[in-house]
Amino acid sequence: MKIGVFICHCGSNIAGTVDCKAVADIARTYPDVAFSTDTMYTCSEPGQEEIIEAIKTKKLDGVVVASCTPRMHEPTFRRTLERAGLNKYMFEMANIREHVSWIGKDKEANTNKAAELVRIAVEKLRHDAPLFSKSFESTKRVLVIGGGVAGIQAALDCADAGLDVLLVERETYIGGKMAKLDKTFPTVDCSSCILGPKMVDVAQHPKITLMAASEVTKVSGYVGNFDVEIKKKATYVDWSKCTGCGACTEKCPSKKTPDKFNEFVGPTTAINIPFPQAIPKKAAINPEFCRKLTSGKCGICAKLCPTGAINYEMQDETVTETVGAIIAATGYDLMDWTIYGEYGGGRYPDVITSLQYERLMSASGPTGGHIKRPSDGKEPKSVVFIQCVGSRDRSIDRPYCSGFCCMYTAKQAVLTKDHIPDSQSYVFYMDIRANAKLYDEFTRRAIEEYGTQYIRGRVSVIQPDGNGQYIVRGADTLLGKPVEVKADLVVLAVGIEGSKGASKLAETLHISYDSFGFFLESHVKLRPVETNTAGVYLAGVAQGPKDIPSSVAQGSAAAAKVIGLLSKPRLESDPQISSVNISRCVGCGKCVRVCPFQAIVETEIRGEKKAQVIEAVCQGCGLCTATCPQGAIQLSHFTDNQILAEVDALCRS
Ligand SMILES: Cc1cc2nc3c(=O)[nH]c(=O)nc-3n(C[C@H](O)[C@H](O)[C@H](O)COP(=O)(O)OP(=O)(O)OC[C@H]3O[C@@H](n4cnc5c(N)ncnc54)[C@H](O)[C@@H]3O)c2cc1C
Repeated sequence: MKIGVFICHCGSNIAGTVDCKAVADIARTYPDVAFSTDTMYTCSEPGQEEIIEAIKTKKLDGVVVASCTPRMHEPTFRRTLERAGLNKYMFEMANIREHVSWIGKDKEANTNKAAELVRIAVEKLRHDAPLFSKSFESTKRVLVIGGGVAGIQAALDCADAGLDVLLVERETYIGGKMAKLDKTFPTVDCSSCILGPKMVDVAQHPKITLMAASEVTKVSGYVGNFDVEIKKKATYVDWSKCTGCGACTEKCPSKKTPDKFNEFVGPTTAINIPFPQAIPKKAAINPEFCRKLTSGKCGICAKLCPTGAINYEMQDETVTETVGAIIAATGYDLMDWTIYGEYGGGRYPDVITSLQYERLMSASGPTGGHIKRPSDGKEPKSVVFIQCVGSRDRSIDRPYCSGFCCMYTAKQAVLTKDHIPDSQSYVFYMDIRANAKLYDEFTRRAIEEYGTQYIRGRVSVIQPDGNGQYIVRGADTLLGKPVEVKADLVVLAVGIEGSKGASKLAETLHISYDSFGFFLESHVKLRPVETNTAGVYLAGVAQGPKDIPSSVAQGSAAAAKVIGLLSKPRLESDPQISSVNISRCVGCGKCVRVCPFQAIVETEIRGEKKAQVIEAVCQGCGLCTATCPQGAIQLSHFTDNQILAEVDALCRS
């Protein structure tokens, strides 16, 4: 066997603390190494050309590159090998940047460690064998989960490219949080005016099937061919007959139903269409508050419905669909802010969330767009905004910034002045984060043109003053003195977290998530919309805080990935998967239970129970190989022999 070794300087990233030339010289002494050199940037075009040249002229059988993490450039170098006519699995990488140069300053020690890592990679390569992918057909259909602005954009882009799209939304309407907003920063244009046409496009697109009031409950299969189980929740209204006329809602006697769309500012009726521009514009019954469903009495809506759409007998229904790719765009929810006792913990009616304030300002909201205090319906003249309620608060283990609160607070202060010209707004803030196009200018307008008073400091307590107002006490950290503001209304910029149930959905989709419910991307910088499960992509706030422009951009990015994937006539499987040695397998079933992808099933061979790997489903995670007590399952490219060869090389050094 002839092995080529390339030691990358990565500019000064590696060469600053590793003697790359010395490592290349040492590598030349390793068994089967026919060529060894150091290069400035191995991943650059000249760097790759050098590899190709060496493969051809030195007739190499395999290559080791010692550079950065394989997460960054393993695919790059594998492609380089293919271009030179070698099997791309005859390649190993030694990570001498993250594992060596970035963590130690002692050049001699680093150089020795780098040489050892290269020795391990060479030993592994000596035990590698060419692997070959299989090709299979894919379903040219994509599932988008979540119909907020990110999911809508992704769905429209995929559909415009000719793919069939299934858009699953758990509420009875699409639009997500954007549908609840009054106006949007920094242009202060009406939210429903810019979102509405997109929602209509979704409804009218011949390639999009919209499943509202539905949730994904099970996903099996693999990239290109996922089988998805979707639960359609009973709405008690036959939507194929409902025309959205609203006659049913007018006479419904259950008028104290919590109004989720309006963020529970005021009640609604048990049968309801959430807002006038709703897509789909269909009524649905809240079974907990419907008199007919709870007590058997009433039935007025059924009598009034001109099309006979009401169906009190309706049951949840489960359907199974096959799709080639999945985009998760499930957005966010506000965290539970009532843990902050100092802000009233939810006891004061006029201390509300920013989303509730959006509904108070919106013309389609419960007050018809007139800002009124929930307690007495009066117009507030003094409005205090408190930022970072649950964002960047290490005391409650929420270290992250929610991304858009600084901007929407400035917007809400501007809109307050527009609605109530003789009002005064105060903003308590930690820092102002306004780092996108026109954002800083917008914040300045809020201060300079609209007279919003920004106070840098935290609020320590909000207390009712007994005369209908609230005393907001805090510290002005710029002036270094306590401050007290009398408020008619207090609006909290509550921090966000992944949407409710996001972690359960992540487990269903076999993707990773963080402790705040945001889905994890495959690589923060280089693969921000991919996940570690092939064929599953991310869009919008589901992946982390971002405003509308970024959510839309990420929706399009996820769509582009899906279009790229499904435009290939056939997909190739990854050959780095598990296989069972039938003669060793005792059929204990441990591998079946441990596999997170349900890729291993029990089968019977000549009357004996054995494990069988479904090749297309296996993701090559290796859990089964580590679990099998018999050593009967091996993962290609990471077999016991290959790993032991690495350990041996390490022990020898
Ligand atoms: C008070 C406030 C004001 C704001 N103002 C602005 C502004 O002016 N300008 C701006 O750029 N940004 C603003 N934002 C930010 C904006 O809301 C987000 O950027 C945007 O909504 C993100 O869209 P999304 O589609 O990622 O998520 P979402 O809007 O949260 O949509 C996610 C969708 O997925 C659905 N869903 C969730 N889980 C599931 C599931 N398991 N199955 C099916 N469906 C599911 C949800 O019901 C929802 O419809 C504001 C935010 C707040 C809180």
